[in-house]
Amino acid sequence: MTKITVLLALCAGLSYPAANAQIAPTWPDNNKIAVSLSYDDALVSQLDNAVPALNEYNFKASFYIVPNSANVQSRMADWQALASQGHELGNHSLFHPCSASKANREWVNEEQNLDNYTAARAIREVLTANVFLQALDGKTQRTFTPPCFDTQAAGNDFIEPLKAHFVAIKGLDQSERSVLWAPSDVTGQQLIEYVKNVPAKTQLINLLFHGVGGDHLSISVTAHAQLLAFLAANKEKYYVDSYINIMQQQAKE
Ligand SMILES: [Zn+2]
Repeated sequence: MTKITVLLALCAGLSYPAANAQIAPTWPDNNKIAVSLSYDDALVSQLDNAVPALNEYNFKASFYIVPNSANVQSRMADWQALASQGHELGNHSLFHPCSASKANREWVNEEQNLDNYTAARAIREVLTANVFLQALDGKTQRTFTPPCFDTQAAGNDFIEPLKAHFVAIKGLDQSERSVLWAPSDVTGQQLIEYVKNVPAKTQLINLLFHGVGGDHLSISVTAHAQLLAFLAANKEKYYVDSYINIMQQQAKE
């Protein structure tokens, strides 16, 4: 078989549960604010620093993996272990394409330039990443965070057709019920203040991390630990879980 034939055969065989739960008005415990801690881009500092800290408090988080990353191959057993510990291996596409034409995107190379993609290619690569992740954790349901939160490939939306393939897609809810922040180079106190000062109607706080004590867009191990300690000390107010668990819990309501 040629490469293309193999890929077509692979795609034809894909089947996913149709689930498209976006944020509903209530959580299992209406008095609590759900907190989704997520860690993007498959970085080793997440394995080395974030995971032990999360496990100390038995907090479950979502790790948005890019299968193409060298860190995935070199630490395969560690990524697999996350799933068995109850964390989510989320989809963050196969190659992490982003639109080079947007501001501050000098780092996007031509191969990963979403402006050169068709929507069909963007969709196919995301669904292929699902197959890889299923091979890692055996799961057929997960959530997706679009790289750079870009939603168009050369002007064509590719997110809408993907909604049926995920329990939820992070970052697309524009309502006042949820907030989202990707902090870097901030103190633990700044993280805590953010959580404490979300608008009154907030039901879901999304905190998107990259490096923790290393790698890019990082926060320090101390800042991360201080945030977790704060959340653990205020469990009557905050419900910390993986994004898929949060979204599935509310879907049961
Ligand atoms: Zn990313």
